[in-house]
Amino acid sequence: MANLKEEISKRRTFAIISHPDAGKTTLTEKFLLYGGAINLAGSVKGKKTAKHAVSDWMEIEKQRGISVTSSVLQFEYDGYCINILDTPGHQDFSEDTYRTLMAADSAVMVIDASKGVEAQTKKLFKVCLLRDIPIFTFINKMDRDANDPFELMDEIESVLGIATCPMNWPIGSGKEFRGVYDRRAKHVTTFTAFANGQKEVDSENLDVDSPELLGMVGDELFQTLQDDIELLDGASAEFDIEKVSHGKQTPVFFGSALTNFGIEIFLNYFLEMTSHPLPRKSDIGEISPFDKDFSAFVFKIQANMNKAHRDRIAFMRICSGKFEAGMDVYHIQGKKKLKLSQPQQLMAQERKILDEAYAGDIIGVFDPGIFSIGDTISVPGKTFAYEGIPTFAPEHFAKVRQVDTMKRKQFIKGVTQIAQEGAIQIFQEYNTGMEEIIVGVVGVLQFDVLKFRLENEYGVEIRMDTMPHEYIRWVTSPDTDVARINGTSDMKRVKDLKGNPLLLFIHEWAVNTVLDKNKGLELSEFGRW
Ligand code: GDP
Repeated sequence: MANLKEEISKRRTFAIISHPDAGKTTLTEKFLLYGGAINLAGSVKGKKTAKHAVSDWMEIEKQRGISVTSSVLQFEYDGYCINILDTPGHQDFSEDTYRTLMAADSAVMVIDASKGVEAQTKKLFKVCLLRDIPIFTFINKMDRDANDPFELMDEIESVLGIATCPMNWPIGSGKEFRGVYDRRAKHVTTFTAFANGQKEVDSENLDVDSPELLGMVGDELFQTLQDDIELLDGASAEFDIEKVSHGKQTPVFFGSALTNFGIEIFLNYFLEMTSHPLPRKSDIGEISPFDKDFSAFVFKIQANMNKAHRDRIAFMRICSGKFEAGMDVYHIQGKKKLKLSQPQQLMAQERKILDEAYAGDIIGVFDPGIFSIGDTISVPGKTFAYEGIPTFAPEHFAKVRQVDTMKRKQFIKGVTQIAQEGAIQIFQEYNTGMEEIIVGVVGVLQFDVLKFRLENEYGVEIRMDTMPHEYIRWVTSPDTDVARINGTSDMKRVKDLKGNPLLLFIHEWAVNTVLDKNKGLELSEFGRW
């Protein structure tokens, strides 16, 4: 038992979010470098070359299984066991990001110092807020000309609406970026560039008012630093761990992932301030991570990670206890006892089959098509379910059919599997079979992905007719007879993958009209996996 407590206490599971190009991949790589998981930075595969988001995604698809973008990386650092979850940068995949955040205990937000808060940062940040988890900010690329650090703080506060607390402060930027002032330790850490960032950087701690520092940075930067510190101590908010733990205040760090300046300082503070796995809500109350019984929930399903095998992997976040390969588990939603096959984990660049894993860890298991997103896995005899993962209301709809009618079977299989992964949502006309499939997406890029994947993975060409509907509501009142709802002319009755009834509307006002016309009818914008 002591071992269980120790193992879980040292776990830190987090996601990194950023606008594309802000440096998420580079930062992840540097974490691995400092964790000793790779020897030379720059060797992690999966670097994005194409600029366009769709081709990016497809590139990533090709490299799945070995790239840093493939879901999760685990490594040890300074007595901690770190799990980094990757999130897609593009807003059209924000639902995927949300599900990934469900598996994380905190998030790191990377911001480009010369660009500040960018469009995608805003969108992803909003998704983060829905989870009420700690968010740590890393202001990257300080080795380039950067915006004024005070302005960057203001921007984060005003645009994102979260209080900031700078944990360290940069001395200069661009070629002049010499180090950071550690506000808690009250000393300056200076860096000496080395091996183009391929190796850990040399650093030295100096007193903030020392002649050595003055000699190193020169009069101007030295004076600016003294002024900045005075201003910061007078004006910035006190660090408040309570606020941080609920995402109400973000600790801010400056650095450069490329040159490794500030990476180690960031890691040390971040690991200290963020928490080990916390209890999670279920239908029988909170489940402690230290509970000796294993439990987990599925947050992501990825098909065809390995083209040769056409396999499908369900990723689950362990919420309590210890997982051991070969153990009997219980799948709540499937009401079945089973063994999880080929449990695996991504370690830096390799996948490895694992023997054991603990609360906080993410495992990928072979899925013969039985799991859905949000499913709970526990041990036989325990039948609670973790809170479901909400689905985002799609805003774009299209009728989809296969071009070659002979390929009906592959078509149905393809769209169903892709929908089970959560990449799209599918609906059918109420009271009909699968004759007509309606696909709903949150971002239109998902349509491209669907088309690409159906062609490439299932050999099915499709035709899509976009629909004018934009508003979707799940019918949540249990006594409603959907066929008898008194509707508007633009209303369409459909059902989702699980048979739940929904209404589609072209006009937003029609939603209220229908509610007015039908006493007792309840509609919701969110479904649940
Ligand atoms: P991602 O899209 O957020 O994963 O960004 P990447 O990590 O792929 O970085 C985008 C580009 O910015 C790459 O060319 C990196 O080499 C570069 N980059 C990342 N971090 C830094 C940094 O700290 N300084 C500078 N100058 N460039 C950086």
